[in-house]
Amino acid sequence: MGFISKKVLATPPSATVSIADRVTEMRHQGLAVIDFSAGRAVENTPEDICQVAAQSMLDGDTHQTMAQGKHEYREACAAKLKRDNGIDADPNKSIIATMGIKQGLTLSLLATINPGDEVIVEDPCFVSYRPLIHLCGGIPVDVPLKRENRYRWTQFDLEAAVTDRTKAILFCSPHNPTGTVHTEKDLDIISQVAQKYDLAVLSDEVYERATWGSRKHICIATRPGMKDRTITLMGLTKSYAMGGWRIGFIYAPEETISAMLVIQQHLITCAASFTQTGATKALADTPSSTLKSIWKDWEERCLFAASEINTIPKLSCDTPEGGFYAWIDISRTGETSVEFGERLLEEQQIALIPGSAFGPNGEGFMRMTCVRSWDDLRIGLSRLKKCLI
Ligand code: GLU
Repeated sequence: MGFISKKVLATPPSATVSIADRVTEMRHQGLAVIDFSAGRAVENTPEDICQVAAQSMLDGDTHQTMAQGKHEYREACAAKLKRDNGIDADPNKSIIATMGIKQGLTLSLLATINPGDEVIVEDPCFVSYRPLIHLCGGIPVDVPLKRENRYRWTQFDLEAAVTDRTKAILFCSPHNPTGTVHTEKDLDIISQVAQKYDLAVLSDEVYERATWGSRKHICIATRPGMKDRTITLMGLTKSYAMGGWRIGFIYAPEETISAMLVIQQHLITCAASFTQTGATKALADTPSSTLKSIWKDWEERCLFAASEINTIPKLSCDTPEGGFYAWIDISRTGETSVEFGERLLEEQQIALIPGSAFGPNGEGFMRMTCVRSWDDLRIGLSRLKKCLI
């Protein structure tokens, strides 16, 4: 007894994954729960991508690949970086295949963090950032995102968090959970602090295609002086509706990729072979009309959800600039986010994520995934309303 490590005992479960699993169990028991918990779009992966991967399995693409990933996959990643992001990447030196963003982040942290190093994160931020930093031996340091600043860091707040133990800044844009899309000015605040204090920047760009209105995603690696200190985490989970495939990639300086490669060899050997083949197909072409119409519809669902929420007594929500979520201010209900979430699930059978799971500054909010079906969205929003009238 008592064999579990202190590190793991001090790690909370993932609210997104555990609540989504709870919903699956409830549905298994016959309950009609509507799931707005984890950031999983309702769409299946486009058929042409599935066909390529399925055929490749039948043709024997069932063996382990190079730890860094197949040549073809890395070349497709480099072509995508050039086409979509204006980045010239060497597929042999600056790219490694990963099993989604969380595995990519783990590689990034293991490759850069010494015990006790501090990593600055946004508060609120994605639920797995703090636990992964902790598990990799680092110390997460929260810097609040304030609603009055549309959930953006100020240079003053960011700089105030830097100590002589700070090693890196980890951030996400488009932002999970608040829906902020970082402008050049926002990125330059991070760039200036990183360069002034010689910090690495870990940039989670998994929502890059989810930008609404005229907003555009910008890679921080393209900002002046940032190429050699940025680890860019990209994935196909969100943009290509390939969540279950667990496939992504990292673009980073050669020395960092070499360090990650050693960890990759020991940890997972490689990303799954046929998922790399499907992802090669997805990235090699310019996005299909099917994908473009999915992205457009996501925008409509996100904006619809936010405007409906603003008609519900005691709730309010800023219009998302991007991402998958409505970040709902529930402070006027007088309930904590965990209490409110439990009540929604028990009384109305709708699952959202309590804001406190994203950090101390997330208390008083709930996160709702908007990219579910239109039917679920309409029914779910009317159930949310019922909870408050
Ligand atoms: N990243 C998504 C979210 O924030 C998916 C769930 C997860 O991987 O934790 O909900």
